[in-house]
Amino acid sequence: MKSLQEQQPTQQIQDKKFEYLVENYKEICYNIKDSKSKYRDAEDNIRIMAVTKTVDPMLINFAIDQGIDLLGENRVQEFLSKKDLYKPCEVQFIGHLQTNKVKYIINDVSQIQSVDSFKLAAEIDRQAKKNKKTMDILIEVNIGDELSKSGISKNDVLELAKRISELENVRINGLMAIPPINADDCIYGNLQELFKEIGQKKLNRINMNVLSVGMSGDYKKAVQYGSNLVRIGTKLFGARKYLEV
Ligand SMILES: *Cc1c(COP(=O)(O)O)cnc(C)c1O
Repeated sequence: MKSLQEQQPTQQIQDKKFEYLVENYKEICYNIKDSKSKYRDAEDNIRIMAVTKTVDPMLINFAIDQGIDLLGENRVQEFLSKKDLYKPCEVQFIGHLQTNKVKYIINDVSQIQSVDSFKLAAEIDRQAKKNKKTMDILIEVNIGDELSKSGISKNDVLELAKRISELENVRINGLMAIPPINADDCIYGNLQELFKEIGQKKLNRINMNVLSVGMSGDYKKAVQYGSNLVRIGTKLFGARKYLEV
């Protein structure tokens, strides 16, 4: 065990090494504020999620110290190996989720953003019930109709939402999407329309509170088109250490 005095210099060296994150975070906040002042209402609240895949828990904790209050996790295994090292912080799941892995995360995340099938929603419902809770979910929309991406086609979102709304231990809380790279503005507009349309129907147990869209490359545009949760990895933490699988 080191004494407190011995620990402090280490902390300072570490903070210096992570200094770039402070600048990155400031820039993201500035850009969101700028986009918001041009296109959104003053009272709109836009949350920043720090996407943690491949990022060292020490750096994640440093981000939490700077004011980050929401983490986004992509991979169950990676999350389980890191979660005990995190400082207290809200965590949501944003990656592709296999039904047999739901049980591992059900008590550690506040929302699952990547629900694109009834089968997955039903398993979340089952595990939530078992743990005496209700899980917030977002429906993932494949807004660019890309074959390579998960998410459900925008034409099928309402039908899926209605089916899922019968499940008692899940709560539909909005939509999530990953638009194609360099997507035209109309793609973002379509997503915003869909989000509004479903919300205006005021359907039982279907709430459109969260529109999760925008990553490092497109968060300014996403804020222009109604996003209230941007998911940022690279622009906050720097380039990822190894390739995604
Ligand atoms: C990796 C990832 C992000 C963040 O991507 P960056 O371009 O690094 O900001 C956001 N959302 C999802 C679902 C991701 O997998």
